[in-house]
Amino acid sequence: MSADMIIENARVLTMDPSLPRAEAIAVKDGEILAIGERAAVLGLRNGATEMIDARGATVLPGFIESHMHLAWGAMGLGGLDLGGVRGFDALAQKIGDHAKSNPQGAVLRATGADHEILPSGERITRHHLDRIVADRPFAMTAAEGHTMWANTRALEAAGLLHGRDLPPGNEILMGADGLAGGELREWGAFEPVLELSGELRLSLGLITGGEPARPPTDAERAADREMTKRGLAYCASQGITSLHNMDGNLYQLELLAEIEAEGALSVRAQIPFHYKNFMTPDVLERASVMARRYRSEWLSSGMVKAFMDGVLDSWTAYMDEPYADRADWRGEPLFTQKHFNAFAAEADRRGLQIAVHACGDGSVRSILDGYDHARRMNGARDSRHRIEHVEVIRPADIQRLVDLGVIAAMQPQHPPGAMNLPLEPTLSRVGKARWPYAWASRTLREAGARIPFASDWPVSPISPLLGIQAAIRRKPFAAGYPDQSCTLMEALAAYTVEGAYAQFMEHRKGRLKCGYLADIAVLSHDIEGMQTDVLHKAMPTLTICGGRVSYRNNV
Ligand SMILES: [Zn+2]
Repeated sequence: MSADMIIENARVLTMDPSLPRAEAIAVKDGEILAIGERAAVLGLRNGATEMIDARGATVLPGFIESHMHLAWGAMGLGGLDLGGVRGFDALAQKIGDHAKSNPQGAVLRATGADHEILPSGERITRHHLDRIVADRPFAMTAAEGHTMWANTRALEAAGLLHGRDLPPGNEILMGADGLAGGELREWGAFEPVLELSGELRLSLGLITGGEPARPPTDAERAADREMTKRGLAYCASQGITSLHNMDGNLYQLELLAEIEAEGALSVRAQIPFHYKNFMTPDVLERASVMARRYRSEWLSSGMVKAFMDGVLDSWTAYMDEPYADRADWRGEPLFTQKHFNAFAAEADRRGLQIAVHACGDGSVRSILDGYDHARRMNGARDSRHRIEHVEVIRPADIQRLVDLGVIAAMQPQHPPGAMNLPLEPTLSRVGKARWPYAWASRTLREAGARIPFASDWPVSPISPLLGIQAAIRRKPFAAGYPDQSCTLMEALAAYTVEGAYAQFMEHRKGRLKCGYLADIAVLSHDIEGMQTDVLHKAMPTLTICGGRVSYRNNV
């Protein structure tokens, strides 16, 4: 038996407690053939074996990114990112240059804009944007993804200039002149702009969970495949070998299957069915169809994603008690308890995994009530239902979450203070009494919760090493408040072992072990020898997924 590939001169962190460290790995037929000391592994070499010299750097199981948005992220790649841009002149310069180098396209687009892009505190209107681009449609989205600003041409072309009836929760801000002012709130409001720019088909999994209204043409499918491939290639360049998408529909799975058939699927992907509050549980048959059709180690479904609330920063997270900075308001859940219980019971009965977005502790409580209801209806099983974000949790729910076997999928990039995020206004909004239970990853882990880490890309940068750096360097909100940081090994586990567990795949991936999938990230540095503030500079030099090189830089 000889190897297809051998990685040597490596500091392998296997994440396997029975053999935590190794010097070399041999790969054959997409799986790990041998791992251990160099001499033993080199015995599997023959003339055709590809030899990789890791140059003493860290080698890890490929990262598992447990909460991200592939299509939404891919749409922002290679486009104009306005992150860090401040002031009208800087904005005008950036957009003007972009317009010159992109004369084509139905809508000129940009992403990553800050709400406070004008330091005067004035909000962006179509009139500001018209002064930059007047002769063609232009639209920019905020980094948080829930707000868009469009110029007059874009509003006109999308049929929004005179306003329009929208589903609840979406809004076109109207100006004093009775026309749309330029700011569009939530995806339902800017859907017509996305339709115009050709981005709608790939956004449907996020916006409505529905399928394209008419079958996309061959050219449209090809464009969407290319966009998806661009997103996958970017993930591979970050050392990611598996992703859990957190929006989805059948169309996204079909595109990925077409990419797989071309031999170009470079990352293993799980795509859920997105259940919205205007649906009824009988539509879950669509999720079951997706689950039955896609269940390989490369492409799978089997999950239902839903949103119970919004985010703390806009007071749309649903809290158990009023916000500390707004005594009359605690947000509203997106589902009634009755609806959520019926949904959870039906999804659980179908053997589907459930993942629900919850930032507020009211939402976390309500979701746990729903999972508990499902268990009482259907009997206990290894369901591994998930709660996404868990930004605030009631103390009484910590043990309940653990006892129900619920996974807390968290993002180390998101707590106030992490990655240079400001502490305010978020901490005043949460209030001191809730600080010990806010982004409480260590508290939850020590109570026994399983916690995969992820970026929520494109909400935060996707780099797992940046996430690991943020997790390790997490500081208490103030003296005397709990330390919610983690060790390097805990952070690595959250990006490998825990992600595999969340997908019922701990027997196949998340560790480097004989017979496991050859999903491997070779880094540029020995990360154990680095200062924690520069960990993100360790970049993958080689990513291997299923024994195939999915990304290579200078090796
Ligand atoms: Zn998300």
